[in-house]
Amino acid sequence: MYLRPTTIDEAIGALVSHGARILAGGTDFFPTQGDRPVTGAVLDISAIEALRGITLDADEVRIGARTTWSEVAAADLPPAFDALRAAAREVGGWQIQNLGTVAGNLCNASPAADGVPPLLALDAQVELAGPDGTRVLPLDHFILGPRRTALRPDEILVAIRVPRRFEQAPSRFLKLGARRYLVISIAMVAAQVAFDAAGRVEAARVAVGSCSAVACRLPALERALVGADAGAGLASLVRPEHLEPLQPIDDVRATAAYRRDAAATLIGRTLDLCLCEPSHA
Ligand SMILES: Cc1cc2nc3c(=O)[nH]c(=O)nc-3n(C[C@H](O)[C@H](O)[C@H](O)COP(=O)(O)OP(=O)(O)OC[C@H]3O[C@@H](n4cnc5c(N)ncnc54)[C@H](O)[C@@H]3O)c2cc1C
Repeated sequence: MYLRPTTIDEAIGALVSHGARILAGGTDFFPTQGDRPVTGAVLDISAIEALRGITLDADEVRIGARTTWSEVAAADLPPAFDALRAAAREVGGWQIQNLGTVAGNLCNASPAADGVPPLLALDAQVELAGPDGTRVLPLDHFILGPRRTALRPDEILVAIRVPRRFEQAPSRFLKLGARRYLVISIAMVAAQVAFDAAGRVEAARVAVGSCSAVACRLPALERALVGADAGAGLASLVRPEHLEPLQPIDDVRATAAYRRDAAATLIGRTLDLCLCEPSHA
């Protein structure tokens, strides 16, 4: 059964009545399916207008669940979103970016999902709607493990919400793969650093992906950065103990030791890039 509702309420009704699987851009949905035929009900959310678009109000930026990577890359957003916009340009090629959604990237919950570190660094939350109403979860409470989220079978992720705090802070994203483009990450880092008028770090958020079952922030490093003089550079402040939350594994793309080393280098570079003017509009 193929369902294409036009409202969120109809979509929730379909989830409750038919146990349907949600289809957004399909760029994870269909590859996961492999050669097997699609069975059971499929809920295509592409006609739900309420899930489209990025809106800014006084307190938060709201990214609707149908927002594609191309739309994020082209959006006029504050500097704190530069890391997310950079990640958007690294998700597959243009065809994937035109179809794939940020929400789908989160719901698919791959440890290598490029959207997760920038959104963790933005303190993002997800808004989930189900038959009992709406609930909001911090992103780090939503993604529970590889391919595992807190989403209930009768719920739909309707929006990603980002508080408008430190939104003028520079942010950067770096991804390392086996080649420059069209590649799954070996390690990736998103960082956002706010400076005070004296050029000292007021707040820092650093998140690393592909180096643990779920991408994570580095709280000890974030604390160590606060008060640092930006003029002296930030990379030298990164210590091995700051990387303790990371638990990289050996796999076909890299060894755990290489991943840890790469993460340390990427973190330093990403932090120091926050001291420079952005290289893109
Ligand atoms: C060639 C190729 C290259 C790729 N390169 C990258 C890459 O470089 N980096 C990267 O991170 N990813 C990459 N991907 C993976 C994929 O493109 C992204 O994860 C994309 O953001 C998924 O979004 P989607 O809209 O296509 O999700 P879909 O495939 O439609 O859905 C993915 C999962 O999320 C669920 N879902 C989707 N939307 C919702 C919602 N609103 N509420 C609840 N559940 C929902 C679906 O049921 C499904 O389980 C690549 C994929 C391909 C095919």
